[in-house]
Order: sequence, then structure tokens, then C-alpha cells
Amino acid sequence: MAKKITNPLSALRRLSGIGVGRNANGQQGMLKRILNGMEALITVCDADTFEIFFLNDSIRTYFGLTDDGIGQRCYKVLQKLDAPCATCPYQQLRDEPEKTLIWEHHERVKGSILRKTARIIDWPGGKKAHLEYAIDITEAVETREKLTQRENMLEVLNRAAIILLSLSEETFEDTMTAGVNLISSIAKVDRMSVSRNIDIPGEGLCASQIYRWSKAAGTSIPTVDELQGNSYDRQIPRWRDVLSAGECINGPVRLMPEAEALKQFGCVTVLAIPVFAKDIFWGFVLFENLTDEQEFSNDEAEMLRSASFMLANTVIRNEEGRKIRRADEQRKQMIREIEHQNKLLFTVNVISAILLQSNRVTFKHDLLRSMGIMAEAAGADRVYIWENYLSDGELYCTQTYEWSGGAEPLQGKDIMMGVSYRELVPRWERAFLRGNCINGIVRTMPASESAFLQQQGVLSILTVPIFLKDQLWGFVGFDNCHSERVFSEKEEKILRSASELIANALIRNSMEVSILQLEVEADKIYYDPLTGIYNRRFFDENMQRLIRSLSRSNGTLSLMMIDIDYFKIYNDTYGHVEGDNCLKIIAKTLKDSVTRADDFVARYGGEEFVIVLPNTNEDGAHMLASKLLKSIYDCGIPHGKSDAADCVTVSIGVTTGLVVHTYNSDTYVQRADAMLYKSKQEGRNRYAFSTL
Ligand code: GH3
Ligand code: MG
Ligand code: MG
Repeated sequence: MAKKITNPLSALRRLSGIGVGRNANGQQGMLKRILNGMEALITVCDADTFEIFFLNDSIRTYFGLTDDGIGQRCYKVLQKLDAPCATCPYQQLRDEPEKTLIWEHHERVKGSILRKTARIIDWPGGKKAHLEYAIDITEAVETREKLTQRENMLEVLNRAAIILLSLSEETFEDTMTAGVNLISSIAKVDRMSVSRNIDIPGEGLCASQIYRWSKAAGTSIPTVDELQGNSYDRQIPRWRDVLSAGECINGPVRLMPEAEALKQFGCVTVLAIPVFAKDIFWGFVLFENLTDEQEFSNDEAEMLRSASFMLANTVIRNEEGRKIRRADEQRKQMIREIEHQNKLLFTVNVISAILLQSNRVTFKHDLLRSMGIMAEAAGADRVYIWENYLSDGELYCTQTYEWSGGAEPLQGKDIMMGVSYRELVPRWERAFLRGNCINGIVRTMPASESAFLQQQGVLSILTVPIFLKDQLWGFVGFDNCHSERVFSEKEEKILRSASELIANALIRNSMEVSILQLEVEADKIYYDPLTGIYNRRFFDENMQRLIRSLSRSNGTLSLMMIDIDYFKIYNDTYGHVEGDNCLKIIAKTLKDSVTRADDFVARYGGEEFVIVLPNTNEDGAHMLASKLLKSIYDCGIPHGKSDAADCVTVSIGVTTGLVVHTYNSDTYVQRADAMLYKSKQEGRNRYAFSTL
């Protein structure tokens, strides 16, 4: 029966209800038995005087009372106080006698927490009694507090997790700091770090600290060398065993076998929590306290275990992210390089087209334009061509062309001419002769070289040797005057071919020019400088050729010898200059009178001319001779001392004949000369003809 009354409230109701019954004493006795059988601590005392009416067995045991305490003041017996306990609600219950009050009371004698329920009941003898019903809830409260604390910690951990999960590339430091600050607030530590295991040959498994945080800094701090690659076996062998088994290292350092090894780090308490990745002991997270000795509770350790996992994960994720970013950066860089190379290659095509279409007239313009296009594509401030020459067996060079964009033009300056390789750039000569380029930063080059280049404001340079028939012809160069850079191998390759293109175009052009000059020079030997018509040499060489070819085709050839009449006296009268002018007019008149493509006029010597008329027969020769006499006369060059006319005239000897291969030039000349002589004899200003 007693065991059934478990609810304190219903017990109270029963008590208050039965106190006034007829068989009060009998019922009271039964009640006392019931109350004595209850675990709750029960006090019944006078509501006015606090005089004890009843204490059940539980409360007497609880307070260690040997008597029943009846008639004594309850606060004296139970609380050992001289006045009612401050938390006793008797006053309130007297004012509101129908109320039931419930409160928690921190019991000062036993140090426990009691949950008390109290109300006013009727007590036999017409008394108002104060019934108090208490249960010890100390353990429950402690558990509740622990739960709350745990809940708080979990909440903080959740927040930390959310922060750490939001880790992004740019915000690693901030994210870590925010997450770690939260974790440290629940761990209450001074330092936190993440160490990763690595295998070092000869050292075995080592711990390498990859992340560090300190409370003093309030942020992540750089890791230090002495915490990289620490051998477990040499320094903390126990840690390896404990951690790899999934257990924590937890407690005051002073009490640990590795106290000596850890001394240098200044930590007083450590909690090392292992981190596993795919079931493999990956490393550990270390929580350090620098001042207080403590042992972390299992609960804390468990919670920090998940925090550790989160931390390690974040650090790994960031490292992975960094790797991916680095790979991505490399990929982007590669694409940029390829694009740049494409651009360079395209440029090479463009300049190749320009140079191929170039001619002697536009060449210099086209060359400089090509150099400019190349410079812009390569990002150079100057592009130039230097030509080599030997002097006393020593190699020199001179700048012959230059394009300059963002840098001072140097073409024509003293320093750009007659530069001795041996004195200023000995390394270049050696490199060039081996076919190598010079590519680099001026500051780092040998002294004489860098002095020479710095003088020109060059910060970095690429020079490409150019060979002509296996000889080092010169070089093409690219200057950078605003930044230090080294051209990549691929860029160098492309710029080398562009340089070769430019230099070869230049070489080809200069060859063309010199061939042309040679041709012009060579041509001169066939012309008469005074009159501009062919000379005797041309006549001789062509006559041979003509006789050969006409003899094969059974052709006819007419030849005329023309001599100015009374020319000696003309010179004497009008002067040599006028004589020359006269010769020029006569030559031009003769030339203009000869219209067929194969015909030609030559100055045979002095004031004598010869006209060669291949495939011209007798009739043709007669006609032309008459026409010539008239044309010359019609020039109207006054000649006061001529016996033949009042102006300059000529006499002509003409001959025509089938060409026989045994003939030569003289055969015709002699016959024509004879006819010329005849004309002179017959009075001049006429022609004489004879068939050969
Ligand atoms: P003929 O009518 O018999 O031919 O008499 P000629 O005076 O013309 O003959 P001759 O052979 O005695 O004189 C030729 C002159 O031509 C001699 C020279 O003064 C002149 N002569 C020859 N070559 C040149 C030349 O290049 N320039 C000038 N101004 N005179 C020349
Ligand atoms: Mg003459
Ligand atoms: Mg003459």
C-alpha cells in the first residue's frame, strides 16, 4: 500500500484530507507509516511556531537524527539555524493557505539540492500544519548543468563547423581564425595546432605542424621549423602508440614520460587528439594550456575530437584547394603562353608576307614596319639589326637598323657603331658562334656586358645570331627597357625564326641591290659616256654574235659607217664643248632614225658612228642612208667652215650582203669604210654603196 503513494502531491492531498477525520489518530498512524515508507524527505511542523509534528524516516536518516525531533523547532533541528530559513515560504503559505509551493533549495548542511513542495494542512488538534516534501535532486541538477554546458559546447562547435565549412580560397586565414577562436572558447586553451604525419626516410613516421593558432595573437600564426618533421620514435614514441590506437594524450605535461621533450614548448597541459583519414592515422590536433594544469574531461575530449576532425579537415581542404588553385593557375598560365605564342607565330606570318611582297623601293620601310610589328607582339621596346665585320682579324659589329617604341632611339649613336665583341660582349661571340641566343636580365650579366647595355637603358634582352653561308653575319636583338623578363624557350624559338626572317630579307635585299649595282656597272662598259649610245665594245661583241646567228639563217646584214664632215675645223671654230654637243645631237638623231628592234647605232670612235641593220637588204639600206643625210642636215647645226654645206653634215659608207659564217666584223667595216672614203672623195654629205 505504502509503495503506491509515489506522487507527492496526491500524498499531500490525502494528508490534508484525513487530518480532520473521526478516527483521526488511527488514520494518522497509518499515514505516518506510509510517509515513513517514502523516499522523499517529509517534515510536518506547526505553521506558526515551526514546532515539529512529524519527521519521516528518510529525513531523519538524511540529517542523521537520532530522535524524532517532535516539539522542537524545525529550523533548529534540520538547518541548525536560530531563525527560520530565509527561503522558507511559511509566510506566503499562511497568507494563501490553499496554495502549493514548489522551489529548489540549496541545502547548506548537506550541500545538496532539494526540490521542495509545501502546503498548509490541518493537523489533529485543530492545528494548522506546514507540510514540506523534499527530494534530493542534486544529481539531476548536476546532470542538467552538464547537459546545458554540453549543449552550449555543441552549439559553439556547430557554429565553428559552419564557419569552417564555408572556407573559401580567399578567406582561409579569416575563416580559420573565426572557427578556431570559437573552438578555443570552449576548449579554453592558449594554443592549438594541426600536425600531419609524414614518412621521412631514416626518421620513420614524423609529425609536421601545418597549422598553428595562439590565443595571444588571436589568429593563425606561422608554423616554425622546429615543429616540422619531428620523429615520433625519437621524441614522443608513446604518442604514436596512443594516438594511432584512437586514444587521446590528455593531462598535465609534468606527469607525462615525454615531459622533458615537451619542455621547450612551454605547455603545461596538452590534449592531443588523433585524426584519421580513411582509417589511417593522419595526424593530430593539439590543444595546449600554458598556465593551468588540468585534465580534459571525457566529454570535453569527445567534443574536441569532432572539433579536431573539423580543423584538420579544413586545413587539408585548404591545402587541396591551394594545390588545385596552383594547378589551375599553371593551366591558365599555359593557355596565356600558348596564346602569346600563337600571336607571335601569327606575327611571324604577317611579317613574312610583308617582307616577301617588299621590293627594293619599299624595302627599308617594310623592314622597319616588320620590326615594329615583331616588337609589339614580343612586348619589346626596341628591335634592331647589327652587322658584323672583321678588322685585323677581330670581330666587330655595328647597328644598321633599329625600330624603337617605348625607348630612346639609338641608331647612329657612337656607342652603336664599331663595337668590339672581345671588349664589350665576349660571351656573345662565343654563344653566337655556337648558334645560341643571349636571353636574360641585364643586371645579372657579366660586368662589361651589363655596363654596355645599361648605358642604353636596357633591362632585359634577347639577341639572336644570324648566319650567312655558315658565317656569323650579325644578330637581331629585342630590348626591354621597362621590365625584367626572360623569354621562354618557345618564345625564343619563335623570335629566332622571326629574326632570321627579318635578317634574311635584309640580306636578300642587300644582295639584290648589289647585283643591280653590278649590272649597272657591267652595263656601263657597253655605253659611250658622252653620247649615251652603244660603244665600240658593244658593236664588236654584237657583230660576232649577229654574224653567227645570221649565217645560220642565211640572213642579210647591212652596215653603215658615218663620219662627220669637217669636224676638226668645227672643233677649232666653235670649241670642244660645242664639238661634244654636236656629237650628242648627231648620235641622238642617228639613234632616233633607226627604228627596228634589232638595229643599233654605236659610236665607233671620235666623230665616227656605225649602224648595224640585221636582215636589211640593199633597198632598205639605201632608204635609210638617204633619210639619215636629210635628218642630220635638218638638225641645222651651223658650220661656217664646211665646204659641204652651211651646217653640219655627215658622209656615209654603206654595204649589204648575205651573211657567211667565214665573215667577221672587219669584213663589213672595211667595205663600209671604203664606201665612206668614197663619199668623202666625192664631195661629202652623201653616201656610197657597195654590195658585199
Ligand atoms: P673629214 O670631213 O675629212 O672627216 O674632216 P674632219 O675634220 O672631220 O676629219 P678629221 O679626222 O681630221 O678630224 C676628226 C676630228 O674630230 C678630230 C677631233 O678634233 C674631232 N673629234 C674626235 N673625237 C671628238 C670628241 O669626242 N669630241 C670633240 N669635240 N671632237 C672630237
Ligand atoms: Mg673621221
Ligand atoms: Mg670627219
